[in-house]
Amino acid sequence: MSRTLTPEQIDLSQRLILNADKIVVTTHKSPDGDAIGSALAMHHFLKSLGKNPMTILPDPAPDFLHWVSDYDSCLIAEEEPEKVSDVIAQADLIFSLDYNHLPRTGDFVSKQLEKSQAPFILIDHHQQPGEFPAVTYSDTKACSTCEMVFRFIEQCGWIGHLNQDIASCIYLGIMTDSGSFRFHNVSHDTHRIAGELIALGLDHAEIHRNVYDTNLMDKLKLIGYALSEKLVVLPEHAVAFISLDKEELKRYNYRQGDTEGLVNQALSIRGIKLAAFFREGNNEIKTSFRSKGNFDVNAFSRSHWNGGGHINAAGGMSVDPMNETLQKFRELCIHYSAQINQS
Ligand code: 5GP
Ligand code: MN
Repeated sequence: MSRTLTPEQIDLSQRLILNADKIVVTTHKSPDGDAIGSALAMHHFLKSLGKNPMTILPDPAPDFLHWVSDYDSCLIAEEEPEKVSDVIAQADLIFSLDYNHLPRTGDFVSKQLEKSQAPFILIDHHQQPGEFPAVTYSDTKACSTCEMVFRFIEQCGWIGHLNQDIASCIYLGIMTDSGSFRFHNVSHDTHRIAGELIALGLDHAEIHRNVYDTNLMDKLKLIGYALSEKLVVLPEHAVAFISLDKEELKRYNYRQGDTEGLVNQALSIRGIKLAAFFREGNNEIKTSFRSKGNFDVNAFSRSHWNGGGHINAAGGMSVDPMNETLQKFRELCIHYSAQINQS
């Protein structure tokens, strides 16, 4: 785990990139701003080197990320599985961005990636990266994979290739993963990088508008309903949580991404140190956890929810029905009450 690449990693990365003909860029399932930002920043950077990369997404990004330059050129595995399988089979270099283990790319993509003989370059800020890559650039202190992509390009000696497309992708991921520069993992270097992007002429206000000021009414009503009717506070454990089932989501014409950030609203309550959000999907319930202080939701999610993430932000899933899932969570709150309260 390091902010900088070793000289050997730089040398190997340069050789792998310069010698590769068929480069594939991948990121995790349910891509967020940092996933799309890092994948497309790398995509644009590789294009600037004269390469012709193919970027693969396991499933589509939410609407508020579709404005990103070249989003439309991404291959979406859910929509074109055969093509994705072919492209991965022919790859001679694969980037793994914003994920630490192949299963994070979903069942289908991870199976194709496992079969590949190509070397992998991993750039990621999640804990405990897997053993699969030829180059593992892992920095769990980084606020985003996007800031690591900037440093990767810089340390490989290619910062002169930075252009507006790369810059806006990198800014997007830094902004979304850092809660607009507010989380504790925002560093001096995060602001330096943002400053350099703005010096290049980046319109940062436009990126904020594209992401945060393009809501549909249904989304705001869903959030209003969740906060007024579905927020449960357990003050004795310093916990707050929200759950939304399929019927409720349908009532407000739920679209992917509509509930992003909702868990942070629960965490924003005074005195609350652990917040959770449960969203019912087709076959499972998606769980999101956030904490203030040192209650480790990555460990909590790994141990009990088949997931992971970071110390203060993690996710996972449950295959039990909603009532049983919520009951399990309440029991865990009792179990961890002292640790949460002391955090
Ligand atoms: P979110 O709650 O926004 O979905 O995710 C918060 C963090 O946890 C993100 O950094 C994300 O990468 C990670 N995360 C979310 N869901 C999962 C999951 O199912 N498995 C693992 N390992 N990490 C997850
Ligand atoms: Mn990220």
